[in-house]
Amino acid sequence: MNKIIFHIDVNNAFLSWSAVYRLKQGEKIDIRTIPSAIGGDEASRRGVILAKSNPAKKFGVVTGESIFSAKKKCPNLKLYPSEFNVYRYYSGEVIKIFKEYTDFIEKYSIDESFLDVTAIAGKNPYELAYEIKERIKKELGFTVNVGISTNKLLAKMASEFEKPDKIHTLYPEEIKKKLWPLPVEELFMVGKKAKSRLNDMYIFTIGDLAGYDVSLLKQKFKSYGEMIWKYANGIGSDDVIYTEEEAKLISSELTLPSDVQSRDEAHKILLEISKKICRRLRDMKRYSSTISVHIKTSDFINYSHQRKLKAATNSTKIVYDIACQLFDNKWQYEPVRLLGISLSGLCEEIIEQTSLFDDIKDNNLKNQKIDSVMDKLQDKYGEDIINRFNSLNK
Ligand SMILES: [Mg+2]
Repeated sequence: MNKIIFHIDVNNAFLSWSAVYRLKQGEKIDIRTIPSAIGGDEASRRGVILAKSNPAKKFGVVTGESIFSAKKKCPNLKLYPSEFNVYRYYSGEVIKIFKEYTDFIEKYSIDESFLDVTAIAGKNPYELAYEIKERIKKELGFTVNVGISTNKLLAKMASEFEKPDKIHTLYPEEIKKKLWPLPVEELFMVGKKAKSRLNDMYIFTIGDLAGYDVSLLKQKFKSYGEMIWKYANGIGSDDVIYTEEEAKLISSELTLPSDVQSRDEAHKILLEISKKICRRLRDMKRYSSTISVHIKTSDFINYSHQRKLKAATNSTKIVYDIACQLFDNKWQYEPVRLLGISLSGLCEEIIEQTSLFDDIKDNNLKNQKIDSVMDKLQDKYGEDIINRFNSLNK
């Protein structure tokens, strides 16, 4: 039997959530109704647009452009900083409503979730989607799109159709009519680069891709070719993976077989802990903005030291470097029995409020690339490969 999967996506989440929050705080203006945007810093005009209101869109303001260029297009544009605590709060409130219907909820991002509603008897899927959508609007004050289908890929494609405040179905029998006529770049996972390579092969619509010889696509794009061909044909997973409650903090510690007496030894242990804990963080697709180091001496005295970062990270190198600095600042040369690192202030993405920290961002991106190569190597060849790599680089 086919499952029934919903993909529920908050419309223009950051801007809507900031708007609703501000109204609650007593602000008179609904920032959704004026030319407004989230991102950057009005005074310094630095940073980029993270979200914009519909009136701002009419002036040609686009997500990702610099504040400077947006202000040129729309001099009256009102700018608001991103408020991640507010976003996390509303994201949680949406999930609370979902939980009244099903436990099969997969949080896909801060404003998107998949729900498996197959087991909800007595209502047709469209009516159920309507009820959830209207409850969110009435109780929380913002709108969502709901995509309905038999797997996650199709449900997600369906929720992308006309916005906002809409419900769309994309059942397998509707693929030909609703999915295939769309430009190929609208398919999930097809970016600008892939689009131009596909266009070179005379693949312009999702239907063109679906009808293409999959073995040729595999030759040209390896496993990616097969994946997008499957997506174009509506083939995808219907497993809604229950997402655990959001972790606020992760930590890892090591009780040492013998007391550590030197700074070098302690740093080596901090490196091992950093590798482990950052890998966990990356697997969770999270970043941390506060790093703490915990030290227990052989006299069982505990102390810790922490630092808040300007930009959240999940880079092993950055966490390791800071952990060493924190250790060095605090350690009084006593024998150490236990060392630990904890990462808190967990968030989903690195989004700086301004571009003041461009150097940090670049550094983060570079380290992220190294880490993802390392993670892949480790998955393929086992943990040892990293140690070999490290010793090669010393
Ligand atoms: Mg959204």
